[in-house]
Amino acid sequence: MSRPVVATLDLSAMRNNLQVVRQAAPNSHVWSVVKANAYGHGLDRVWSALSTTDGFALLNLEEAILLRERGWKGPILMLEGFFHTDELPLFDKYRLTTSLHSNWQVRALANARLNAPLDVYLKMNSGMNRLGFAPERVHSIWQQLRAVANVGQLTLMAHFADAEQPEGIVEPLARIEQAAEGLDCARSLANSAATLWHPEAHYDWVRPGVILYGASPSGQWRDIANSGLKPVMSLRSEVIGIQNLKAGDTVGYGSRYRATGEQRIGIVAGGYADGYPRHAPDGTPVQVEGILTRTLGTVSMDMLAVDLTPCPQAGIGSPVELWGNEVKIDDVASASGTVGYELMCALAPRVPVVVQ
Ligand code: PLP
Repeated sequence: MSRPVVATLDLSAMRNNLQVVRQAAPNSHVWSVVKANAYGHGLDRVWSALSTTDGFALLNLEEAILLRERGWKGPILMLEGFFHTDELPLFDKYRLTTSLHSNWQVRALANARLNAPLDVYLKMNSGMNRLGFAPERVHSIWQQLRAVANVGQLTLMAHFADAEQPEGIVEPLARIEQAAEGLDCARSLANSAATLWHPEAHYDWVRPGVILYGASPSGQWRDIANSGLKPVMSLRSEVIGIQNLKAGDTVGYGSRYRATGEQRIGIVAGGYADGYPRHAPDGTPVQVEGILTRTLGTVSMDMLAVDLTPCPQAGIGSPVELWGNEVKIDDVASASGTVGYELMCALAPRVPVVVQ
């Protein structure tokens, strides 16, 4: 038997989550965002669960090629376009839809020798100030692209910084409307938060990522608790050691946790080298033997400690859910000062993955 830390991926949850997206945005096409190796889940493991999507959006050429090699014939959107001009022959070969956010990309595409035009997403900066053309340049770039023989279908794209806030897209949407005035253009604007909470931003193509994996775009599980979304990834392990503490005893590096009385704790195989956040404070939720309890002390590279007070029957070999269906990844993340996105993406390569 090997070390008991295992990640499980529930592909039926993923299919369910795509359905939730379909219901939320019934009049839009769906780009399933599978960048970053499908948010840490493993693109090759999960893409087929999303094969009823209208397209996949990602940003690594290797990942796009993998999808083509696995037989995906539908659209693939390269969210950041090409990083260097020499990628264009591969965009051509694999028929990739490119986003364009910079002048040099427009010039490179115009000058490329392609077998057929590429579909283009013109990326506008709607206020996030990450990638994209300024709103006042959208009209002229649009007209410029219209005259480029290498440009096929043209779509306007933008990305929201605050779509999880009730008023978070008001200003960006107004900028987009103004920039697009007079252009007869298809639009793709909505990330997960806008897909769930801002139907006015759905337009032609929504681009959800994190909700396909069953985590919350706001970082708070309670915000999606009634949405029908289901967690895809579970991280489970076992208790591999027991300690009986007396008042004043401490636990782990830095002696951060100090017992105030007698206390039985479990040592769980699972640490930051597996992707569990080292910043998890005392009290981060965890389940042992199906009972909710809490972590104690600083998370080590390979182990963490849990309070066994609520589950006195627990012992060596007791099952532990670090996150999954019962302990939500969002709750572990928010306790640790981060978001579920980061924890998913940080699942360590050494953790074996079982696909269900
Ligand atoms: N669209 C773009 C351009 C993105 O960069 C991302 C992810 O950051 C998404 C869509 C999906 O975002 P989310 O996972 O919040 O749905």
